[in-house]
Amino acid sequence: MNILIHNALIFTNDEANTILRDHAVAIEGSRIRETGPAAALRRKYAGHQIIDGGGRLLMPGLVNAHMHFYGTFARGLALPGTPRNFHEILQMLWWKLDRALDGEAVYYSALLPALTAVRRGVTAIIDHHASPNATEGSLDRIEAALAQLGLRGLLCYEISDRDGAGAAQAGLRENERYIEKCRAAKQQDPDHLYDAMIGLHASFTLEDRTLEAAAEIARRLERGCHIHVLEDAVDRTLTRERYRAEIVERLQRFGILGGRSIAAHGIYLSEAEMDMIAESSTIVVHNPQSNMNNAVGRADIFALLRRGVLLGLGTDGMSADLWPDARCAALLHKHDLQNSGAGWAEIQQMVLKNNPAIYRRLTGQQLGQIKQDYLADLILIDYFPPTPISGENIWGHFLFGIADAPVDTSIINGNIVMQGRQIKGVDEAEIAARAQEVAAEVWKRFAQ
Ligand SMILES: [Zn+2]
Repeated sequence: MNILIHNALIFTNDEANTILRDHAVAIEGSRIRETGPAAALRRKYAGHQIIDGGGRLLMPGLVNAHMHFYGTFARGLALPGTPRNFHEILQMLWWKLDRALDGEAVYYSALLPALTAVRRGVTAIIDHHASPNATEGSLDRIEAALAQLGLRGLLCYEISDRDGAGAAQAGLRENERYIEKCRAAKQQDPDHLYDAMIGLHASFTLEDRTLEAAAEIARRLERGCHIHVLEDAVDRTLTRERYRAEIVERLQRFGILGGRSIAAHGIYLSEAEMDMIAESSTIVVHNPQSNMNNAVGRADIFALLRRGVLLGLGTDGMSADLWPDARCAALLHKHDLQNSGAGWAEIQQMVLKNNPAIYRRLTGQQLGQIKQDYLADLILIDYFPPTPISGENIWGHFLFGIADAPVDTSIINGNIVMQGRQIKGVDEAEIAARAQEVAAEVWKRFAQ
C-alpha cells in the first residue's frame, strides 16, 4: 500500500530527537520512502492514499522488549494459597498456569494482549512463551494471533527441565522448528513480521545437557537465547545447589550469552557478573512493574548502562502496553535512591532508543525511526501539546502526557492496523466472549 501522512507533528526519534513541522511522510509497501516538506510531497506522491494527521503526533511505534503473552488468563485467577516469595509465585501460579494451557488457550492468551498493544502504540513485541502440555506448534498459534491484527513479533519457546526431560526436548524442537520457519520466510521477504530466538527459562531449571543442546541450535541457526537471569536470588542458590556453578559463568561456559542474547532482569548480578555481561555484549531487559509485583528488588540499571550494556525495557507479562513500565521505571529508581533526578536520561534512552536498537540487532530489521528506508511502523497519537515541545523537552511530554494519550492510528509494515481507534477486521467483543469460555476451561485445569 502507498500512503502519504500529512498534517502531523512528527517526532522522528533520530539521535537528535528531531521534531518536524509542516512535513509529510511517504510510505511505499512496507517501508518509509521519504520524509520532506508537506507541500512538495503532496505533489510528488499525488496518487498515494492520504492520511490526514489532524495535527496529532506522529512517531515510530514502540517496542516491548520482554513479554509473556501466556500470562493473560492469570487475571482474576484464584490461587490455592498466598505465595510468600518468588519461588512460590512460580510454583503456585506460573508453572501451574502454563501446564493448563492448550492450543486454543495459547492463541487467545496472545490475541487479547495483542489488541492492547495495538491500542497503546506498541508495534513490535519480543515474547517468551511457555505451554508444556501444548508445546508443538505453540509459536505458530501466537504468530496466528499477532497476524490476525498485523502486529510484529520476535517469539521464542521457554525451554525448561522443570517438567522433565521430555518437555525440555519438546521445547528445543519447537524453537528449532519455528526459527527455521522464520528464516525461510525472511529469505523470501526480509520485512516479514515474525522472527525467532531460543527461549530458556532460567539457569536453576536447566540441566547442562539442555543448555548444550540450546547453544548448538543457536550456533547452527544464527540466533541468540532469551533467558531470565537473576530475577531473584533463588536463581543463584539453586544453580549452586543443583549444578555447583555460578550462573553467569555457567551461561558463558555453555555459549548462551552473546550479542544476540537477552538476559531478562539481572537484579542480583554482582559487579564481576555485570562485567561479564558487558564483555559478552549480552542485551539486558529491565521489567520494573513485574519486579515490584514479585517484590524481588531493583536492578541497578545505572551500573549496567555505565558498562555500555544495551539495556531495554519490558513488561514481563504485566501488560502489553509499555507506558506503565516506562513511568514505573521513572518513579522506582528515584524513589529507591531518594534522588529526584535519577533515571531521567537513562529511561528515555531505554524506551525510545534502546528498545528499537534491540529489535534491530536481533532481527536485522530497521525500525524505530521515521527515516528513509526504515520500516513503516508508525503511530498517530491524540496528543496536542499544551506547552512548547522540542527535542530537548520531549521526554517530559512523553512521561506526563503522551503516555496517557489515546493512539488513533497504527501502521505496521506499511499496513493500516488501526485507524480512528478502530482495529481492522476484528470484533473485540466477540474475541473477549470466546476468551472467557477458554479461560474458564484453563482455570478448571489449573484447579485440578
Ligand atoms: Zn519474564
